[in-house]
Amino acid sequence: MTGPVGPTGLVDLHMHSTASDGSRAPADVVRAAKRASLVAIALTDHDTVSGLPEARQVGDELGVRVINGVELSAVEGDSETHLLGLHLSDTTVLERGLADLRDMRGRRAARIVELLQSQGVQVTLDDVMLQAGTGAIGRPHVARALVADGWAVDVRDAFDRYLGAGRPAYVAKDQLGMREAIAMVHAAGGLAVLAHPGSSATRERLEALRALGVDGVEVKHPSHSPQDTARIRSLAEQLGLLLSGGSDWHGAGDGPRTIGMMQVPMEWLTRQDERVEALRRVPAA
Ligand code: AMP
Ligand code: ZN
Ligand code: FE
Ligand code: FE
Repeated sequence: MTGPVGPTGLVDLHMHSTASDGSRAPADVVRAAKRASLVAIALTDHDTVSGLPEARQVGDELGVRVINGVELSAVEGDSETHLLGLHLSDTTVLERGLADLRDMRGRRAARIVELLQSQGVQVTLDDVMLQAGTGAIGRPHVARALVADGWAVDVRDAFDRYLGAGRPAYVAKDQLGMREAIAMVHAAGGLAVLAHPGSSATRERLEALRALGVDGVEVKHPSHSPQDTARIRSLAEQLGLLLSGGSDWHGAGDGPRTIGMMQVPMEWLTRQDERVEALRRVPAA
């Protein structure tokens, strides 16, 4: 596939579109990647792969490689962890599980609206659905509805007042266990990559996750301090975990986050490709 000298350039392996809670259509995400001179991106919408065909088609037209991805939420103990599935090859297997997760998101949005209404906040489920369109519904859509109707000044304010953990309209997601989430990604032929672990990435935790089947870890992410980034990278290299990174871009209105901002080297993607190829040579157990 790649010649003796691998391709160079920068990639961005974590981003969202209107297929979930991003504000740009999948095609526009790829166009933005092209403008930012990225050679490859992974589209990693929450609990859906529905944006991938459009993104891949535009990627083919523009010469930007689009990697099939998804971002799942999973529980570990009592905390929420995000897991990226990258390089998915068979998304039909995954679709059934994802449909259940999206149904859960719909029920949760209704419950969040009930809680808001019980606080006197007159936002309706229709207002929220209007923000979500056909995308997998999440708290950012509720936040945008609150902003649109004048109940919060911006998305951050909406999370601070109502939607964040411990706030009056917070509703946790019914979630997959980490083992289950990893199994879903592997069943779809993908690599399971721990998303933005930040300061929680201790050696013990990464070793435990590796034992559960995690293949890699997101080293570069806008939420990581330079110290976290350096420490996570070193731990990942010691533990034989693949390196990954991305902007977690959600489109316009995403504050200071810009597409490609994490300057992830193509070489990290090449290592991932090599792992995927090796896995495909060995039939799944
Ligand atoms: P959900 O999956 O519905 O729980 O929504 C999680 C998403 O909300 C994350 O992926 C972020 O994009 C966004 N988010 C979480 N916390 C905040 C916050 N404090 N301010 C703005 N956006 C947030
Ligand atoms: Zn999101
Ligand atoms: Fe995340
Ligand atoms: Fe994300």
